[in-house]
Amino acid sequence: MKMRLLLLFIVLLNLSLFVVTTVFAQDAAPERRTPIDRYPLPREDGAVRFSLADKWDKTDLTFFIHNCPSTLRCEDAHEAIRRSFQTWDAASRLVFTEVAQPRNADIELRWSMQDEELGSPGGVLAFAYFPSSGGDVYFDDAERWSLYDGGATDLFAVAVHEIGHSLGLDHSDDQNAIMFPYSGFAPELGRDDVAGIQRLYGADDDGAPDTVQPDPPDNLDPGNAPVEIVDGVITNTTFYQLWTVDAAAGETMTLTLETTSGNLDAYLGLLTPNQDTVLAEDDDSLGGTNAKITYTFPTAGDYVILATRYDLANGDTTGNYRLTAYRGGTPAQPTATPTPSLMSLTVTNRSGVRLCSVWFSPSTNEDWGDEQLGENVVLENGFFARWEVQPDTYDVRVSDCSGNALEEYFVEVTSATEVEIFVNDIQPR
Ligand SMILES: [Zn+2]
Repeated sequence: MKMRLLLLFIVLLNLSLFVVTTVFAQDAAPERRTPIDRYPLPREDGAVRFSLADKWDKTDLTFFIHNCPSTLRCEDAHEAIRRSFQTWDAASRLVFTEVAQPRNADIELRWSMQDEELGSPGGVLAFAYFPSSGGDVYFDDAERWSLYDGGATDLFAVAVHEIGHSLGLDHSDDQNAIMFPYSGFAPELGRDDVAGIQRLYGADDDGAPDTVQPDPPDNLDPGNAPVEIVDGVITNTTFYQLWTVDAAAGETMTLTLETTSGNLDAYLGLLTPNQDTVLAEDDDSLGGTNAKITYTFPTAGDYVILATRYDLANGDTTGNYRLTAYRGGTPAQPTATPTPSLMSLTVTNRSGVRLCSVWFSPSTNEDWGDEQLGENVVLENGFFARWEVQPDTYDVRVSDCSGNALEEYFVEVTSATEVEIFVNDIQPR
């Protein structure tokens, strides 16, 4: 009988903190060194000969080449690396972009003598990490590299092989596959490799250019060019990203968030510069899984755009998106007098500890109903969670991550004003 009230679930927990720790974790994650090519894994069985390790949860990938080999002209070696990526690009939905900064790169490549596997001719030529371990590639700088001769140290063939690992392919026992664990066999992709990469990422969507200037949404003039276009990705670990847009006082802007890969159900939010208030939000006004907001900014500032997925942490859709900002547009007119039927109930954590559970229900109800934060969602100290609820008087119960609970009764949610519940103390009960 409880919990009809949870219509819209907006949790802005950890907002800025989450982004910082995500970036930090990517940079500082300990690299699990797995010199894959030391352990050839040919398989004996049936028709499917490729084997898969894991995969990226996006199809737009970036790479950065750190240095040059001692035994080849630098530009020739870099060109061979680029062609290696193009080989996988042409065979699948993957798209690669070379970036100028290693911190922007998904896959980093370098020649090295510093690893115990490297530093002497022969033996291990190179190794790569699977996507879950970062995807980086190391070539042995002690090798006498050649180019495009299909020989044992053909840099192009070895690079295609190693990048195959970076994309999640393990070894194949097909001697015509580039993923065969020994060099000097296949000089380029074989059918088995193409089948493997397409199993992971799908076949190339023929002819569609990778970058398209989006059409302006319906409420804008067709000649209205976007002022800002950015691409991003939503994964299960990075389920939102924040962008800022510089707006003048009185300016109207239309923001669109479109899914460009995956099954992402794009969800768009617009927040005040200090991120404490949601000004507007949208799920699917642009049609399909795509979101659109038109907003007139009352005061100038760097407003914050929240690009995320429907149901945030509890959602399960992932993929790439494109966020576009246009000047102008006709803000959606509120129908009749805005009589909001839902009110915000905000729980702000001031307890000094992390909260793992939040329950609330109308005071007339006899039980607490469902836990509202969701499994594995933590409300950090100093952050808040917000729900849209029917106007009523509520009882609220929170507990820390050891199960110690605190309850607050008769919290009135009867006006459009946010009700904040400051949890000052968590005591064992
Ligand atoms: Zn290998």
